[in-house]
Amino acid sequence: MNKAKQCIGVITGLILSINAFSQNAQSTYAETISAEDLRKHLTYLASDELEGRDTGEKGQKLAADYLRDFYKSIDLAGPVDGSYFQKFQLSSVLWTEVAFQVGKNKLVENEDFIFMGDGDMKKAQKAELVFLGLVNEENLSKVDVTDKLVGIWAIGERTGSLTDQIMDAGALGMVVVTMEGQANFDRMANRFKSLSGKGRLGFDKPTVQRPIFMVSSDKMAEIFETPVDELKEAAKNDPGSIQSQKVTFKVTKNKEMVDTENVLAFLEGTDKKEEVLVISSHYDHVGVNNAGEIFNGADDDGSGTVTVMEIAEAFAKAAKDGTRPRRSILFINVSGEEKGLLGSEYYAENPIFPLENTVNNLNIDMVGRIDYEYQDKENQDYVYVIGSEMLSSQLKIINEYNNITYTDLILDYRYDAEDDPNRFYYRSDHYNFAKHNIPVIFFFNGVHDDYHQPTDTVDKIEFDLMEKRAKLIFHTSWDLANREHRTPVDGTNTRLQR
Ligand SMILES: [Zn+2]
Repeated sequence: MNKAKQCIGVITGLILSINAFSQNAQSTYAETISAEDLRKHLTYLASDELEGRDTGEKGQKLAADYLRDFYKSIDLAGPVDGSYFQKFQLSSVLWTEVAFQVGKNKLVENEDFIFMGDGDMKKAQKAELVFLGLVNEENLSKVDVTDKLVGIWAIGERTGSLTDQIMDAGALGMVVVTMEGQANFDRMANRFKSLSGKGRLGFDKPTVQRPIFMVSSDKMAEIFETPVDELKEAAKNDPGSIQSQKVTFKVTKNKEMVDTENVLAFLEGTDKKEEVLVISSHYDHVGVNNAGEIFNGADDDGSGTVTVMEIAEAFAKAAKDGTRPRRSILFINVSGEEKGLLGSEYYAENPIFPLENTVNNLNIDMVGRIDYEYQDKENQDYVYVIGSEMLSSQLKIINEYNNITYTDLILDYRYDAEDDPNRFYYRSDHYNFAKHNIPVIFFFNGVHDDYHQPTDTVDKIEFDLMEKRAKLIFHTSWDLANREHRTPVDGTNTRLQR
């Protein structure tokens, strides 16, 4: 054997042994993730003492303290000027008066209508309610909406852009008709009723101060004294043919500022420490309803939160033993998710580490249960994998490789589509990273009867299954944090790419 060949042989052997060592280490630390630890943390986070961890409330603060103390105990750093808390403020808007009257008929909030828009009026306003039906140029040219409330059908489209079009045309507000039947409307109205008296949380931004009242199609027929079928016809053919109605409405509001915080813990990498992998969950839930029932949120998203904790601990132990990841890892538990992904939006707008150097986000939301699809299946070792191919051609393969090598779960891609009717790709915190072209994977185990109910409790969690799911996410994280090249942004989702 000549010298050069010998040399290559040695180098190859060295690379193989480094790999073998690294894989061994990886497996050793994966073993520290245990059902027992997951249960211990979740038993506290989903206990009644935490009162459903509603954003800005006492229970959320207790959860934040618990997370901070934990990260401190495993020697991870607080990356926000030494703190583990990224504090931010939200405004809490409470509607002190919402009145909506058609002719002489006073409608009842959360029975006849649901109030959605915005506004703060000193006195009641009288206006005409005109029927537009569908929002398109033709209809807008036929019906004068200036200084009027405008009745429209809600059909599939997102109401945001419709609102803009109608308000731009000079309308005072809207009456939106849900097309999903009276039973559906009643369910929604009940949900709003159960939250009445609680402020609506959001970022304190200027909004279009115009009210939107939502009604059922039956109620709309009653308001216009016209059968639903005729309203539908008119929406398509001649919206101007429906006679308008006199309405009176008034909304007043009270605004308060609320303090909340994301919890962040940081593990610095070695030779690629400028690059950061983000592993996330939301630790807030929806609190307590007006009947005093606590929504413990054991699965949503207590499960993701304790999974992040266990993964963090595994990496921290490895680091302590001298096996640090090459890239840095940021563990982040956000608040405000249930109010509209607010904590992750705040982080993405105010990142502690530059987003250009943020290589991936692995987000974990509801991984503690078995959903409808799998409840009767023999093999329940599954996880839904969402978004892994949308921004990078490599992320899905990397996750699959680690699954085949270490965990052997069923990776189910049924929700992995931008046009999935459930819209899961848009419905948890990873979306705020994906928006900034950071390749993400969303790990999720689906919905069940206890989803957003007071019955989402810790006794229903499948800790053994959750342990396996956590291990997969750990292995994929290890790989992403240690591989030579970060995953390229070359995926199929061109819509998100700017
Ligand atoms: Zn959730």
